[in-house]
Amino acid sequence: AKEGGRNTFQFFTAEMDVRAYERLLLENQLRRAVERNELALYYQPQIAAGSGRIIGAEALVRWRHPEKGLVPPIQFIPLAEESGLIVDIGNWVLREACRQQVAWRKAGLIIPRIAVNISALQFRRSGFVALVRRALAETGADPNGLELELTESALMEPTDDTERQLANLKDLGLSLSLDDFGTGYSNLAYLKRYPLDQLKIDRSFIRDLPADAEDVAITSATLSLGRSLGLTVVAEGVETPAQRDFVTNIGCHAMQGFLFSPPLPVAEFEAFVAEHRAA
Ligand code: C2E
Ligand code: CA
Ligand code: CA
Ligand code: CA
Repeated sequence: AKEGGRNTFQFFTAEMDVRAYERLLLENQLRRAVERNELALYYQPQIAAGSGRIIGAEALVRWRHPEKGLVPPIQFIPLAEESGLIVDIGNWVLREACRQQVAWRKAGLIIPRIAVNISALQFRRSGFVALVRRALAETGADPNGLELELTESALMEPTDDTERQLANLKDLGLSLSLDDFGTGYSNLAYLKRYPLDQLKIDRSFIRDLPADAEDVAITSATLSLGRSLGLTVVAEGVETPAQRDFVTNIGCHAMQGFLFSPPLPVAEFEAFVAEHRAA
């Protein structure tokens, strides 16, 4: 029994070593992914609820791993956040989205706004506003066509610093959107205090619409809260016509979801836009 226990122990440590090793390996590969140009942005269209027009696109990062193929963000963003690599990755994402906006405009393709996800760590890192300013200046991107998506965890505990930083970002001319609304800390004080432009209702509240009574209540209340604060409201994760009709009827400004399109690589996104306009 003693011997078996010992073996079990050794087995577990060996397994843990393997996991720690794989993690370290992935972290090192991720570190090099930026310089090796393995990251790519996919774009998911955002559709105006009334007109059906494309009013924007959310940029979503993917990793083209040399062996694993296309790795979704869920498999590397958490690691990137824990290791601090998210700062470099986030900067690349920001610049790439700005570069793409300029390229599209030069080609006559006007996507009114491109939204970029900003992680809490990236946002809180000193010099973030300067980085955004530089990305805009060096790419020549139009700040009016850029939106930053922040989560509640980035804005947690309203402070003067956060307030000033958001005001400085607004001064650059871009817009600010609160992502995954309702899933984080329910501290509504920041809604009053911060210069936000938009709320995005989290997909988890949309999924069971219109059958689920609680979700009907939550989305309707979020909408009237947003509207009375002068914010635009976007519904995420719209997958069915019934969900589209529901969020349109309660007054959502825009929608995003598989019903319209999944996130697409650049060429496919361009094709989607062309087809959508022709329709
Ligand atoms: P998010 O910001 O909430 O992005 C929306 C996610 O919902 C995307 O997943 C998108 O593909 C997915 N989605 C959109 N419509 C539907 C739908 O109708 N049904 C379902 N089931 N899903 C839908 P994705 O691209 O895998 O991204 C996951 C998360 O990874 C993002 O959630 C965001 O938190 C993070 N992420 C992605 N790109 C970046 C980035 O560049 N920087 C940072 N910091 N985080 C990122
Ligand atoms: Ca987002
Ligand atoms: Ca979201
Ligand atoms: Ca329920």
